[in-house]
Amino acid sequence: MEYTSTRNSALRVSAAQAIVTGIAPEGGLFVPVEFPKLDVRELAGLTYPQTAAKVLAKFLTDYDEAFLASAAEAVYSDANFGGKAGFVATPEAGRHVLELWHGPTCAFKDYALQLMPKLLVEGKKLTGDTSVTKILVATSGDTGKAALAGYAGLEGIRIAVFYPNDGTSEVQRLQMVTQEGGNVAVYAVNGNFDDAQTGVKRAFTDAALRDALAAQNEKLSSANSINWGRLAPQIVYYFYTYAQLAARGEVRDGEALDFCVPTGNFGDILAGYYAMRMGLPVRRLVCASNCNDVLTEFLSTGVYNARRPFHKTTSPSMDILVSSNLERLLYHVTGDAARVAGWMRELAENGSYTVDADTLAAIQAVFGCGSATDDEAAATIGDTFARTKYLMDPHTAVAWRVCERAAQPGAACVVLSTANPYKFPGSVLGALGADVPADEFAAMASLEALTGTKAPASLACLREKAVRFTQTIDAPQITEIARSL
Ligand SMILES: *Cc1c(COP(=O)(O)O)cnc(C)c1O
Repeated sequence: MEYTSTRNSALRVSAAQAIVTGIAPEGGLFVPVEFPKLDVRELAGLTYPQTAAKVLAKFLTDYDEAFLASAAEAVYSDANFGGKAGFVATPEAGRHVLELWHGPTCAFKDYALQLMPKLLVEGKKLTGDTSVTKILVATSGDTGKAALAGYAGLEGIRIAVFYPNDGTSEVQRLQMVTQEGGNVAVYAVNGNFDDAQTGVKRAFTDAALRDALAAQNEKLSSANSINWGRLAPQIVYYFYTYAQLAARGEVRDGEALDFCVPTGNFGDILAGYYAMRMGLPVRRLVCASNCNDVLTEFLSTGVYNARRPFHKTTSPSMDILVSSNLERLLYHVTGDAARVAGWMRELAENGSYTVDADTLAAIQAVFGCGSATDDEAAATIGDTFARTKYLMDPHTAVAWRVCERAAQPGAACVVLSTANPYKFPGSVLGALGADVPADEFAAMASLEALTGTKAPASLACLREKAVRFTQTIDAPQITEIARSL
């Protein structure tokens, strides 16, 4: 399988090259040149790691299949994912919840970021790359910790994480600033997630920096969902969900499912699009936003307008105005790199672009959309718990709410649940109508007492861990930090 760039379809690279490089030279994103086919019936009875090996082998054709299989077994082991990799709960008839937060950092990003370090190290071997890899990560909260956990202590790799100052929950922040390991660094950035992401993107396209690093046999790479190595592992759980529901008799052979995805950078939902193009019976992919509803507007009107107020919400991992992975969808729908490059240039220069009617229609044929406010998400958490005793986090609640509104009679809907509720104990407790203590660990204890659920040990232990990183920077400093990392 070869990969090309969303902004230059003459480019051809291998999967290993796409993963090692992260982003194409002219700023485009790597995309596979075709969609391999996979019949979900072939996956019946397979475990999660076995399913992962099958799906990944379709895309990572330059990697050895035995390597992929053993990497998947190690990463998605019962020890690492609590025996619940790809687990689907059904709290109400017809409403399924794909719980993606049973991994080590309690967010869905573990699916990609536990595996990607192995893909990167192996990819360097495959491409004969002996350089030191410097990974720069902009995070709205969950990516940072998941990437730190995945890359800490790896030979030949250094990683720096940049999170928006005051943009994450306290638990998310503590998860990052207490990270152990000699090859990690964590910085707060003045501004919001887009400021951090723009700073990182600027470092990646800085020719002087690239040359200076090359002289020391060092290279930049990204762990953000713009890296193909982030996306590919996320395709797996769409297939696994379908196979699981088919085995339970919840979905008839060939019946198409709806997936509703709490969306920020458009990576998770795009993985569902890949699954669909590979042949998985998917009826609609519903893109759920919080009140940063730039994607709801785009999917409704074809106008992408990032020039709008940025809202801090109770679902901070979705507080994003520039959803990078949308670029991949535009490429797949139009097949026209020059047009995509033009839109991205308009976005960079004017903060907006408008797609033509045909492109919008092609997108709307697959993608639904909707948004939910913080109040609506909180009401959903409270109502659902009162009715079913099912506890969800604010990101999942946004999707649940949008799914309720967008649901069509008779169609089974799978809500992707992207974080453990204990990552946001204050918001969740408030949503249940309880008093919220200022201290997030006190909130965790109250949440346990009120709901009879248990905080994951990896979160509860944060209170005792030493804070290692305290520096706050401005986004333009990221280039300099990359140089000296
Ligand atoms: C990252 C994240 C999202 C958004 O996922 P994208 O792939 O960026 O669209 C949603 N919920 C949680 C909890 C996340 O960490």
